[in-house]
Formats: sequence, C-alpha cells, structure tokens
Amino acid sequence: MNFKYMKEALKEARKAAKAGEVPIGCVIVYEDKIIGRGYNKRNTKKTTLAHAELIAIQKASKAVGDWRLEDCVMYVTLEPCQMCSGAIVQARIKEVIVGAMNPKAGCAGSILNILQMEEFNHQVELTTGVMKEECEAVLKEFFKDLRIRNKLEKEKQVP
Ligand SMILES: [Zn+2]
Repeated sequence: MNFKYMKEALKEARKAAKAGEVPIGCVIVYEDKIIGRGYNKRNTKKTTLAHAELIAIQKASKAVGDWRLEDCVMYVTLEPCQMCSGAIVQARIKEVIVGAMNPKAGCAGSILNILQMEEFNHQVELTTGVMKEECEAVLKEFFKDLRIRNKLEKEKQVP
C-alpha cells in the first residue's frame, strides 16, 4: 500500500467533481506504475457502466494487453458497488485499497463482500479506510455544493 496512489485516485475523483459527477476516482497500479485511471462519468456518458473502476480496468487491460490483471493493485476512493466488485473478481485483481466506505451500495464489506467470497474462484486482498477522511471530504463537499446550487436554482424560479 502506498498513500501516493490514493492521492492519485483522489485527483481522479476531483476531475469527476469538476465535471459535475459524483466524485469517485480510481487508479490501477502494476509494478509500481499506474497503468489505468478512471473517474465516475455516469452522467457524461449516460451509462451506468461508466463507473471509475470499470474505466480504470478497461484502461489497465489495454495497457497490459490482457483481461487478467493478476498482479495489479486497485486504489479507489469509495467502496466498489456490486457491479465493480464483480468486475474486480473477474479481472482477478490481486489487491484493492479502499478509501471511504459506502453503506448504501458498497460490496467490499458493507452490504456484501463480493471481493472475498470463498465460493468464487478468486479472492482479493482488501484494505479499507485508507485516507478515509480525505475521500469522505471530497464527496461531502460535492453534495454540499450541489445542495447550495439546487437551492439557488429553486430561489430563481420563485416569481
Ligand atoms: Zn461501481
């Protein structure tokens, strides 16, 4: 585990916030090098498949020329959902480092722990709570700004 990679994932999350997307960022590291980056683009791309983790997995697979990411480590600012956790297992990623937890959608321990089910053919090493405060702060700030923007919009509409 290396904090500098979570900082990179946070940079990705901030790019999402700038684009008006819920700030979630992700990087994938292989042999101490970032081979895939991604941030949430669900609204921009108008598809639920544009989660940060899936974008990073696609880029990393392209970089190594293989769907298997066996010796790779993923750093992600928010606990992966069921779809992304499934993709992480499918890609056979070795290790996942999570920032903030997501009690309402997380599948790396909150609702389920898809990453570490013995029944699957692959289990992922998991560390959670890395730079948790920073990862939570970027989300809190985004939703606070959103509430302020929504309030201002509503006030504008009052005749
Ligand atoms: Zn996801």
